[in-house]
Amino acid sequence: MEVYGAVQGVGFRPFVFRLAEDLDLAGWVINDTRGVFVEVEGPRERLEAFRDRLVVEKPPRSEIHAVEAAWLDPAGFEGFEIRHSDPGGEKTVVVLPDTATCDDCLAEVFDPADRRYRYPFTNCTNCGPRFSIIEAVPYDRPNTTMRIFPMCAECRREYEDPRDRRFHAQPNACPVCGPHLSLVDADGRLLAERDDALEGAAAAVEQGRILALKGLGGFLLIVDARSQAAVVGLRERKARYEKPLALMAADLDGARHLGEVSAEAVALLTGPEAPIVLLPRHPDAGVAEAVAPGNVFLGVMLPYTPLHHLLLRRLGFPVVATSGNLSDEPICIDETEALARLGGIADIFLVHDRPIARHVDDSVVAVVAGAPRPIRRARGYAPLPVRLDGPAPTLLAVGAHLKNTVALSVGERVFLSQHIGDMETVQALGAFERVIADFLGMYEAGPVAVVHDLHPDYASTRWAEGAVAGEGRLGGLPLVAVQHHHAHLASCLAENGGGRALGVTWDGTGYGTDGTVWGGEFLAGDAAGVERVAHLRPFRLPGGDAAVVEPRRSALAALWEVMGERVWDLGDVAAVAGFAAAERAPLGRMLATGFRTPTTTSCGRLFDAVAALGGLPSRVSFEGQAAMLLEHAVDPGVNDAYPLPLVEGSGPMVLDWGPLLEAVLGDMRRGVPVETVAGRFHNALVEGILAVAAAAGEPRVALTGGCFQNRILTERAAARLEGAGFEVLLHRRVPANDGGISLGQIAVASARWGGGKEEIA
Ligand SMILES: [Zn+2]
Ligand SMILES: [Zn+2]
Ligand SMILES: [Zn+2]
Repeated sequence: MEVYGAVQGVGFRPFVFRLAEDLDLAGWVINDTRGVFVEVEGPRERLEAFRDRLVVEKPPRSEIHAVEAAWLDPAGFEGFEIRHSDPGGEKTVVVLPDTATCDDCLAEVFDPADRRYRYPFTNCTNCGPRFSIIEAVPYDRPNTTMRIFPMCAECRREYEDPRDRRFHAQPNACPVCGPHLSLVDADGRLLAERDDALEGAAAAVEQGRILALKGLGGFLLIVDARSQAAVVGLRERKARYEKPLALMAADLDGARHLGEVSAEAVALLTGPEAPIVLLPRHPDAGVAEAVAPGNVFLGVMLPYTPLHHLLLRRLGFPVVATSGNLSDEPICIDETEALARLGGIADIFLVHDRPIARHVDDSVVAVVAGAPRPIRRARGYAPLPVRLDGPAPTLLAVGAHLKNTVALSVGERVFLSQHIGDMETVQALGAFERVIADFLGMYEAGPVAVVHDLHPDYASTRWAEGAVAGEGRLGGLPLVAVQHHHAHLASCLAENGGGRALGVTWDGTGYGTDGTVWGGEFLAGDAAGVERVAHLRPFRLPGGDAAVVEPRRSALAALWEVMGERVWDLGDVAAVAGFAAAERAPLGRMLATGFRTPTTTSCGRLFDAVAALGGLPSRVSFEGQAAMLLEHAVDPGVNDAYPLPLVEGSGPMVLDWGPLLEAVLGDMRRGVPVETVAGRFHNALVEGILAVAAAAGEPRVALTGGCFQNRILTERAAARLEGAGFEVLLHRRVPANDGGISLGQIAVASARWGGGKEEIA
């Protein structure tokens, strides 16, 4: 917590010390250049009591004007101490994330008597932009993109008045001195300004047109969510055909019309992070089918800046609000770039003159097993650190290939970047390089090594190799390669206090130490090293990654593994019969010879195979779509499971899905509904996990990797394992998917630093 106001020289630190002792909380307090900084640790209720009592019981001569707070990882402090300012200390400054508009500011924006009435850039020390406007630390106005707006006399008075809520609010602004809106067409011609611009944008959305809105951390594309034509038009222009689109509702009531809002979801939607939350969809949500085709969830967020509040209240209906980009490229952040890249997508642009220092996408969170689980970590969360169980050398980790993030360790803290995206476009690589430069600059860090994925062909790996071979600040540094699934496990361990566990690391693909494609691994160990104790039965996958959008190819390949070329005789199996005669010969040759047919243990591809056999689409438009459809198909009343025997031999144990596939085929032939097949398949995976856990003998089991975004798999596996006496570790701070890999890379490289321990036995 940063406490602002008249808090120095008035006995504030001793007061904080006594209050912490009274509440039996650990941590420390220090005077800094802006007030008093406190890190305090303990149960959440007592921390909230601490915050409340801090304000109420403060020393008589002190005045508190604002408290900025963020939730960090537990550090394991012992006792509470008063620290003395150390100007030479390391730069572990916590740059705070962007925070959704607070109630006080919102009230002002909608109060006709207030001088900030309808002002879209209203903020205070309790809310507003931070990470997206900071160009350098310390966080002071000259170091933000707000430096080009000299404060008017009234704003400056607030800024300098210790009794004001805007005391030292760096982005403080008002209609007189601050940024303003403009409405421009796709050719960049000015159409309107200020309130007229907002009105023009709202009218365009009402008419079914596509609005590009410059928001907090980048552009959003906005259309009327009720209009199938508008949503389909957006999908076509954006080349995003089936991936679900996020919605923005005007308020909590609006969100409740769209989906089921649990207590956890309310806390997320209305909290300072205000992410997109996956809500179980209402059958009568009243949004176009094209918003999330075939999906039982809707991704919903609430307005998080006054600009979004003003627009949504004016419209009175939910809108699609999706990243302003083409397909999987990074989000656009400036007008020139937006006009160039979004000109073919958006009809009209609502922009403003406050520059965005860096891209920050909207975060996505699901509530799984009773707690928030991040799927995409960006606005509201980045760049808050995750704390390791001990100090790490300063390391830069460059992440994986898809859903890339990077990470930097400074002391015990690992600063995690915002979501960067799939490293498949020039734009993504550019964003990746900017984020790395940004992090190294912001934390004034001099890494001692660069950590990357073991995959030799990942763009991130190649970048790391180029960087250490070059003349730049990373030139000459050693490289550390970390196996993908080891990084998944280490990531989950790092945010659960370290130690060791059996890692059930299931995802679509990752480069294995034997050069094959892993993805159904059971790795036992810790950050320093693991043993591959078991994996799913391997099979040859013709075309490798080409199969991710063609689930029937995974079905064919898995069946080939079980029955060889007799697979072509399965004329009654649609997924097989659908292959044209001309496709069969080359596929058969690939499967027989292994040419361009990597061997894989991927759980993601096994999901695809079962989905295709179950009659779900044989082609999809994004990785994991078939698995998602299979998850959503599950009949919750199905309690039995397909056979998935655990076979022990000389090497790692193997979960053999051969009998499972035979059983799926039998069920399909008997006309058993896909809902039942999906249920039995999920249950089989759960029993398989339990069998390996029982054989491995590790008391703790970590569930990690992209497959554990699957709510049913995660909740059932966790419940079954806990019922059998295991401690289950799940992700809470970073995604289970590849967005969490950079944290794991740091943990592994740190544990191995100087030790030279062999990574995977
Ligand atoms: Zn505020
Ligand atoms: Zn002003
Ligand atoms: Zn992965």
